[in-house]
Amino acid sequence: MLTADQQVLIVLEIAKIVATSQKLEEMLENLLLCLVGELDMDAGALLLYEPGEDHLVVKAARGYHIAPLREIRLAPGEAITGRIFQRGIAELYNTPETIAEARANMSPHNREMFIRATEGLAQPQSVLCAPLITGQTKIGALILENRRAPDHLDSLDLTFLKHVADLVALAVGNAYLREELQAVQALSEANRLKAELISTLAHEMRTPLTSIKGYTTALLMEETAFSPETQREFLQIIDEECDVLQDLIHDLLESSVIDAGFLKLEIQPVVMPRLARMVAEDIARRSRQHRIVVDFPDDFPLVDADPDRIAQVLRNLLDNAVKYSPNSGLIVVRGEVRPDHVVISVSDQGVGIAPEHLSRLFEKFFRIKSGLGRHVVGSGLGLPIARTIVESHGGHIWAESQVGKGSTFYFTLPLGGLGQEKEVE
Ligand code: ADP
Repeated sequence: MLTADQQVLIVLEIAKIVATSQKLEEMLENLLLCLVGELDMDAGALLLYEPGEDHLVVKAARGYHIAPLREIRLAPGEAITGRIFQRGIAELYNTPETIAEARANMSPHNREMFIRATEGLAQPQSVLCAPLITGQTKIGALILENRRAPDHLDSLDLTFLKHVADLVALAVGNAYLREELQAVQALSEANRLKAELISTLAHEMRTPLTSIKGYTTALLMEETAFSPETQREFLQIIDEECDVLQDLIHDLLESSVIDAGFLKLEIQPVVMPRLARMVAEDIARRSRQHRIVVDFPDDFPLVDADPDRIAQVLRNLLDNAVKYSPNSGLIVVRGEVRPDHVVISVSDQGVGIAPEHLSRLFEKFFRIKSGLGRHVVGSGLGLPIARTIVESHGGHIWAESQVGKGSTFYFTLPLGGLGQEKEVE
């Protein structure tokens, strides 16, 4: 039996553990370690009830083979712990026979796991088990085993253990509340980001829409007759702004497709210089101020890739090179061959990117607050999409840059074949 001094020390130790543990699991492990040691026990386990599954699961244990013990799912009423949990009353089993009898109703699966968990260990001689109850709610059970001597424990120990179990239950209840609070905070943060995103996108879309609406209204005004050149200029602007809107919507759709894991690659041998030239010409048609040069060596090998997706990567990089080089300049698309991969790069002479932003460029919705003096329309999705595509080909993508001097985006594609079709998880 424990002396009063010992009991006080145990309670103090428990209070210390509860006050200092950061995580529920860590707290349960420490509590169990303390109880097994201070009560001179050989083994013990803390089980918590999972209401959705209607079973008890081991959350912390000492003196067992832990892996099989964690596989046990005890129904209320099953074995000692299940029974004590169901009845809500602590009990002392003081002989090996009463212990074996109380464990007789274990399901075959649980029995097998329990046998494995106690393989090579001595049989218990006495067992103390107490339910964990907070208020009206049963949340689990605590079991302690002595494997050396029967009658090692008495009813006073049981009374003390009941109080200890109440303290543990209180601590677990508080930890649950803390976890719930954190989950609520995480949810509200996610909602905040979503709201912010919607407002950003609404703004991004309003800019081209306002311009389309303005020029269309002007063209429709009957009292003003615009010259054919002006009309053509207005229509040109409307056309460009429609492209901007289309790109934004396309990015958004693509991003949700990638999130949902439906990106299918149709791999085939690709003539990369030709693909790069095609995309470059397309972009050059849209932006006449920039000079785009495509530079690939003559012996550039065929690359196994999905041509539409790689064209999309190149288009995103070239679009950015144009968007973020407001003072025009030279843009170079270059291909280089390495022993087991190719490197394709897009470099510009634009505004550049500060070192602290380089690592975040490929995060979804990350956009640098533009220092361009005018608002640049974008979704912050082009680079994350490019990364998903490149990585699903087995390549890498990264950027190097100097503020005010320009940026180079690189991506690699492996040589040597990827197989016919690959799906991204
Ligand atoms: P978006 O261009 O739609 O904003 P991206 O994901 O393509 O989204 O790019 C993310 C951010 O990275 C951009 O907002 C821009 O700040 C920066 N960025 C991308 N490419 C360049 C570039 N070539 N030069 C300078 N900044 C760039």
